[in-house]
Amino acid sequence: MEKLTCPKDNNEMHINRKVKNVKFRGVDVKYETECFVCPVCNTEAATVKQASTIQKNISDAYREKVGLLSGKRIRKKRRELEMSQQELADKMNVGIASIKRWEGSQIQTKSMDKALREALKGKASGNICTGNRDFSLGRIHLLLCHFETALNRKVLKEKDKGLYAAKYVWYADMIAYRDYGESISGSTYAALPQGPQINNYKDLIDEIKHADSSCVDPLTAEEIKIVRKIAMAFPDNRDVYAASHREIVWKEKNAGALIPYSDAMRLTEI
Ligand SMILES: [Zn+2]
Repeated sequence: MEKLTCPKDNNEMHINRKVKNVKFRGVDVKYETECFVCPVCNTEAATVKQASTIQKNISDAYREKVGLLSGKRIRKKRRELEMSQQELADKMNVGIASIKRWEGSQIQTKSMDKALREALKGKASGNICTGNRDFSLGRIHLLLCHFETALNRKVLKEKDKGLYAAKYVWYADMIAYRDYGESISGSTYAALPQGPQINNYKDLIDEIKHADSSCVDPLTAEEIKIVRKIAMAFPDNRDVYAASHREIVWKEKNAGALIPYSDAMRLTEI
């Protein structure tokens, strides 16, 4: 661990981590910082590495907030696809330096963001039943919390079997897959007589209610946008129920058949 002494009074400085707010390009962003602080005079100083991490964190927080892929997410998606920076650069017809900069703190343009998403879309051979994501009870729980905020009401009540909640989650997962190549919760869905439902929901419903969502990835800006869009389109339980029953991808299935994520392209109600 590096040590710094205060430039003013030569006291040994301590590491200080905190969450800060800043206005960046006109947007309020929250980011994590780590720097040194003098216990006597409160002077703050950052090493070169700390300063560059702060830059990255501000840039990432900004990008998440305005709906661009953050550097962290670009790197994560690229690694999931087992793609090197060079391979991604080749696929996008840009230099490797651009990829390195975007995975760092440089902010890509809207059009380059689109190209990045296109190049980082899940492989066609990815899992069509989970929408290219690992199944996560915590993320279903988190998704429902966001729906409750967006709808301003409870979605999953204590004795609830998830009849309506599942339809909100289904639409969110399907649209995330359709628009970004990746579901939100990794759930598998079945066509049941009462509509699309999380597969094996009877075994899962209590776990979903009590799942710990504190240790899962928070919803991204795009995912939250999807939740809001669905909440706006279907404000009432009856709306989401009726819409899902008009979907051909549900109507055409035999009872109990799985609804693959590839069906997301054929949704008609949203
Ligand atoms: Zn000092």
